[in-house]
Amino acid sequence: MEYHHIARERLGFFPTPLIELTRLSKALAGPKIFMKRDDNTGLALGGNKTRKLEFIIGDALAKGADTIITAGAVQSNHCRQTAAAAASLGLDCHLVLGAEEPEQASGNLLLDKIFGCHIHWAGANRKGEDIPKIVEELTKAGKKVYVVPYGGSSELGALAFVDAFRELESQRESMNETFTHIVFASSSGGTQAGLMLGNRMFNSPYQIVGINIDKGETDKVPFNQYTISLANSTAALIHADYRFSESDLILNSDYVGEGYGVVGTLENEAIALTAQTEGILLDPVYTGRAMGGLIDMIRTGKIQKTDRVLFWHTGGAPALFAYASDLDVNRKR
Ligand SMILES: *Cc1c(COP(=O)(O)O)cnc(C)c1O
Repeated sequence: MEYHHIARERLGFFPTPLIELTRLSKALAGPKIFMKRDDNTGLALGGNKTRKLEFIIGDALAKGADTIITAGAVQSNHCRQTAAAAASLGLDCHLVLGAEEPEQASGNLLLDKIFGCHIHWAGANRKGEDIPKIVEELTKAGKKVYVVPYGGSSELGALAFVDAFRELESQRESMNETFTHIVFASSSGGTQAGLMLGNRMFNSPYQIVGINIDKGETDKVPFNQYTISLANSTAALIHADYRFSESDLILNSDYVGEGYGVVGTLENEAIALTAQTEGILLDPVYTGRAMGGLIDMIRTGKIQKTDRVLFWHTGGAPALFAYASDLDVNRKR
């Protein structure tokens, strides 16, 4: 695979564990369920953005940046991991967060502050709309600024998930297991685009099933089209001759509910069930929703007992603390 010439900065501890969730599977009377533990990537409480940042920050350093800037929601895991990566390398970090400043910082925002980054409050603009203006000001002040794309979902970010796929395959082979589905939370598209490309490159037969977390669009392009074009441009980046079209994308939008970050029964049940059968924390925004989707697909027979599912845990648990009032903590499974 032709990407070892691409700059990379080590930020996490890999490979992350691949485990089997026997008690959850039993509770659902369902198929074998495995979990890829990217909540344990090792950078500042972990998550899937650590992988993407290894390539993106590698590029920033290669280009001589001294300042990085990115954007996200107030409880963005991407922003928290970016802030930690910047701190570890002595880079200035600016975060553009889509909210009004809350009275008290909690969850990911609390951690952003501990990492000492500069926070810009952007109101309703949670996808980086305000970045160009801030970059212009920083550049005028003599900074060499590098923009980390929203959610880390550029070709470099997606490439990290081609690499993650390779990591998974080597673990799977040594466990002598097979999978039918890979299920995960999909939001800015980099994880899904990378896994789709990895699946194709390794000639693997899995269904790559993204659970859509966000009703929205990215850069004014519908999310499904963005993800497909990202898979294609990532293939082009590494001169791999693969083309994806609409029919190659499995993006399940049945569980978006009231929209991004609105916690309902689906998420609460998934969080409680996974915690109480496996001792594993999911998060309220991404993995709780994705696991809720997986549970529903098992119950409704869309995923069958004879299947073998890999759930990719993408992190996010630090947000639990900020969602305390939306979580049904008295819930017993
Ligand atoms: C960002 C994020 C995702 C979504 O990954 P994308 O590559 O943006 O689709 C899923 N889970 C968690 C916890 C995240 O922080």
